[in-house]
Amino acid sequence: MRMRRKIAILCFILCVLLPFVTNAANHDIVWKKIETQHFTICYNQASKQLLQDIKRKAEGYYWELEDKLGIMHQQWNGSIYIYDSRDDYAEHSGAPQWSSGCSEFETREIQTFIDAPNFLLEILPHELGHLIFGEYVENRDSVPLCVNEGVAMFMEETPRRRDWAYVVNYYTQKGKYMPAKKLFSVTLAELNSFSDHELIDAFYAEAIGMLVFLIKRHGKANFTSFVRQLRSGDSPESAMRFAFGYFNLKDFEKNWLASFQ
Ligand SMILES: [Zn+2]
Repeated sequence: MRMRRKIAILCFILCVLLPFVTNAANHDIVWKKIETQHFTICYNQASKQLLQDIKRKAEGYYWELEDKLGIMHQQWNGSIYIYDSRDDYAEHSGAPQWSSGCSEFETREIQTFIDAPNFLLEILPHELGHLIFGEYVENRDSVPLCVNEGVAMFMEETPRRRDWAYVVNYYTQKGKYMPAKKLFSVTLAELNSFSDHELIDAFYAEAIGMLVFLIKRHGKANFTSFVRQLRSGDSPESAMRFAFGYFNLKDFEKNWLASFQ
């Protein structure tokens, strides 16, 4: 158990999800293509098995967004580009060499490469969550960053998705817990400016923990009503009150903390 906890913390530390600027996929390359219900998968040397895995996972995540979070688009179609090597991927996408995948909101594209580490269970669901949720809320700036990241992490099949409660408790003991009022106001620029990595880890652990709690306790219908309120310009506090009945963020926070501490 102790080891598992250590791994969970390490995962948070290594997987900071700050976005980087990327380019759309290279359309000069002649791609082979397969179509699924919601995706066009573009590749050259990817194996049948990899294509099959990506196809199955991508469609599964798409339906999970609707099934578990109530986020749905009637006619959503995106593309997944699988480069033959990490070098090709980094060169054409503009993403850093160390990354395993990236996404481009405007073009609904996800880019990766053959055998990219963590792609199927972490990068693909996370980026897909951002792409589809981003379109659902229309104006991403109307939704607090912690909700946006919470939705993306909710989709993952990773230790940090499962072990958030331990991580939140760990940082609370270290005095790095971020109160809900602060959590809901943190912007990407602010998060980027944190020099303390542990504060960033705490932010992500709290974001996923809060989302899991809201969905489990209140269900997806109330969650989509919360998102609709945010989308229409409501403050997080007022949207919480409307959708879940909490008096304010403090009231929500008290209930959330009591659920796992
Ligand atoms: Zn993210």
